[in-house]
Amino acid sequence: MAIFRKDPCGFFCILMTYGAVLYADYVVVRWIILQTMQGSLWGSVHVFLFNTIILLLFLSHARAVFSDPGIVPLPTHRIEFSDSHSDGGSIAPREDWTICTRCEMYRPPRAHHCRICKHCIRKMDHHCPWINNCVGERNQKYFIQFLLYVGLLSMYAVCLVAWSWYTDCQGCAKDKRIHETRVLHSILVSMESFLFGLFVITIACDQFVGIFSDETMVEQVKKQGSFRPRKPKLALLAEVFGRGHPVMWVFPCETGQRYTVEPILNYDV
Ligand SMILES: [Zn+2]
Ligand SMILES: [Zn+2]
Repeated sequence: MAIFRKDPCGFFCILMTYGAVLYADYVVVRWIILQTMQGSLWGSVHVFLFNTIILLLFLSHARAVFSDPGIVPLPTHRIEFSDSHSDGGSIAPREDWTICTRCEMYRPPRAHHCRICKHCIRKMDHHCPWINNCVGERNQKYFIQFLLYVGLLSMYAVCLVAWSWYTDCQGCAKDKRIHETRVLHSILVSMESFLFGLFVITIACDQFVGIFSDETMVEQVKKQGSFRPRKPKLALLAEVFGRGHPVMWVFPCETGQRYTVEPILNYDV
């Protein structure tokens, strides 16, 4: 199910992401590689590698943005919850299911309500404006891949800028303006890479701490995850990244069933 939230903050963050990545690509190709590696095979190799990371970054971002994060479908007939202590006489589909008074339905364990998405999301981690979507059971993998690609691209850009200072720039020697423009773009792209790089690496670390402790961000705040039995780390990673070969975990594609499919709720049954 392709979805897109009408959230101004989400629109702004997505445009900013695209602008920042395309600006970094422009600077690296036009002002770093073309100025210092023109005619060399290394120049072509770096253009290819840098743009391959950008392609994977955009693909994982698009899947994180447009994927269903794990919306719990609304029942065919909603229950009237007159007060929060009553379940209206209805019986939960299973013992461990809880009530969402906003959706007026029972929801599976680990599902939480997102006020921006206006739905209960399975294994909801948090709502992220950078993907204009919730991070939940079905798209956490793409979200983490997006973070890792942004981190990798930032480090790559900083390395290329740093390396370019030790290389002759033919255009810069002839024209002072070319030299000044290159310096300005290099400083801007380095600052951008440091800022975004540190930001995404911090969030990625939080994500992996959450996966290994088997607790989503919501559960950490509400202190709901500590009672769960401990599982091996590889099994916890496979729950997020799929049961395919671990090499495939870094690619933005579907690799084996990662989640359970819940039946459509119908309280008449
Ligand atoms: Zn809900
Ligand atoms: Zn949400």
